[in-house]
Amino acid sequence: MVTATALAEDRYFVPRTAAITAAQPVLDAAEHAALVARIKTLLKERDAVLVAHYYVDESLQRIAEETGGFISDSLEMARYGKEHPASTLVVAGVRFMGETAKILSPEKRVLMPTLEAECSLDLGCPADAFRAFCEAHPDHVVVVYSNTSVEVKALADYVVTSSIAVPLVEWLRDQGRKILWAPDRHLGDYIRRETGADMLLWDGACVVHDEFRSRELEKLRKDHPLAAVLVHPESPRDVILQADVVGSTSQLIAAVQNRPESEFIVATDNRIFYKMQQAAPDKRLIEAPTGGHSATCRSCAHCPWMAMNDLTSLAETLEHGSNEIFIDEDARLKALVATQRMLDFAAEHRRRVVGDA
Ligand code: SF4
Repeated sequence: MVTATALAEDRYFVPRTAAITAAQPVLDAAEHAALVARIKTLLKERDAVLVAHYYVDESLQRIAEETGGFISDSLEMARYGKEHPASTLVVAGVRFMGETAKILSPEKRVLMPTLEAECSLDLGCPADAFRAFCEAHPDHVVVVYSNTSVEVKALADYVVTSSIAVPLVEWLRDQGRKILWAPDRHLGDYIRRETGADMLLWDGACVVHDEFRSRELEKLRKDHPLAAVLVHPESPRDVILQADVVGSTSQLIAAVQNRPESEFIVATDNRIFYKMQQAAPDKRLIEAPTGGHSATCRSCAHCPWMAMNDLTSLAETLEHGSNEIFIDEDARLKALVATQRMLDFAAEHRRRVVGDA
């Protein structure tokens, strides 16, 4: 029998964010402006729209805003792309986000600045091993996080985002269903504690959120006693337990905007600060610690794969129509069914489905 624990070994290479950003071309102000202008022209010429995740570099988020594109989480990016009239979607993010866009918009061309941008949750949950795990527990309903490949989504009964996961699992619990959850163990543990549901957890983790450290966070809170602590639920339990707000990316941005505090300690990818600061310009944002006495950071609060999206790769993709996303049609249709069940659940319960990594 395949177990989640057996798959917890580090089987994939995780690049360091600092090495990736150091390898990117350094542009002076004139080169930067010329490249941005070229990208804007190409977007028009190619009938393309740029949809960017909150975790990509500010320069890409800015272009998305200035050209009628969109910045959000993976599901909202895909939904926006589906509704937009452009025939080409350029997805600045990681591979599963391009796949999600293609699942919802099969008739459109979906391009990405790089196809090398992966996600440790996706990499840590290969479809063959996950299929064996599901087959070993046939009495469980399979619920997977959106940070998975199209092949894993095709094996699921439900695909969920971090903002809808708790109510959907509560609903399944009330029907007496046992749940098999993948891939993030911290988010799964959080959902299980919130709902009391009978859940089996896959043993994956996000390389960014897994690095937030509770002991250092305790010290930082002492230095900023009036700050509210905002935590994404892909973070370890001891970090989540110190949170004033646990939520998806969109929910954390809303918290900065709506809460009365003037200081916030934020435990998620620091590129989200661009939209947070825009939503609440007078508020002070402080990165939650990933290093210190008990840790050294690999990502340092910025996803190494998100960092692979830069202006040069975006321009090249638009210039040459490269890095197109193709997915198997049978897997797409199955993944669409599991995704649509979440959307239907959300509509029924009058909840707005937003948010994931
Ligand atoms: S931040 Fe974490 S969950 Fe998001 S893409 Fe990077 S590795 Fe995956």
